[in-house]
Amino acid sequence: MNTSFSALPLAPRMLANLSQLGYQNMTPIQAASLPALLQGRDLIAQAKTGSGKTAAFGIGLLHKLNPTFFAVQGLVLCPTRELADQVANELRRIARGVGNVKIVTLTGGVAMRPQVASLEFGAHIVVGTPGRVRDHLSRRTLDLSRVHTLVLDEADRMTDMGFYDEIEGIVRACPARRQTLLFSATYPDDIQRAAAAFLRDPLEVAVEAQH
Ligand code: ADP
Ligand code: MG
Repeated sequence: MNTSFSALPLAPRMLANLSQLGYQNMTPIQAASLPALLQGRDLIAQAKTGSGKTAAFGIGLLHKLNPTFFAVQGLVLCPTRELADQVANELRRIARGVGNVKIVTLTGGVAMRPQVASLEFGAHIVVGTPGRVRDHLSRRTLDLSRVHTLVLDEADRMTDMGFYDEIEGIVRACPARRQTLLFSATYPDDIQRAAAAFLRDPLEVAVEAQH
């Protein structure tokens, strides 16, 4: 199997940026998921920490993103503020291959007002924790009606923390026609229920971390 990013149907600018980041070859989770992701398929993926999951969904999301359209097109839900910050930083690095992409983090433990200001200024991608994203939805400071890609990152940790109902409410605020990607280290009942409820004909991928 060719694991070079250049085997993927990505824009030259995206490929040049990946190479500038030092990403020559896809990690196993990227190689197993990206061809299907770029075709728009839903995905359930299991892979260990450090396997490059962020770039897997990030490249898929950013490939479809239109930077000249000022609406939230991608939503990534993470269990904690630290993980949301890490994901946002990695997405910003990958987004250099797309153009001027605005990525806003919405997590708890931070005042609402600056988050609302960032949203008003225009965000293409929101990375957040379920509780705070739900707060913005109830206050109508966040519009998810143009989301084309929804990512549930570390989904088992989110359901362990009791976020199932928040996630369900957030999913309902996204368009029915969307691509949904679920990443989880384990498959307890909650995750199977989430997958059945939120995903459509998903590709299922499981890989060991070994890059
Ligand atoms: P995970 O979410 O699976 O725990 P991350 O997405 O945080 O892992 O990626 C782990 C590290 O690997 C990050 O530092 C990231 O920049 C790097 N990385 C991701 N993809 C590649 C690649 N194809 N080549 C080299 N490094 C990569
Ligand atoms: Mg991760």
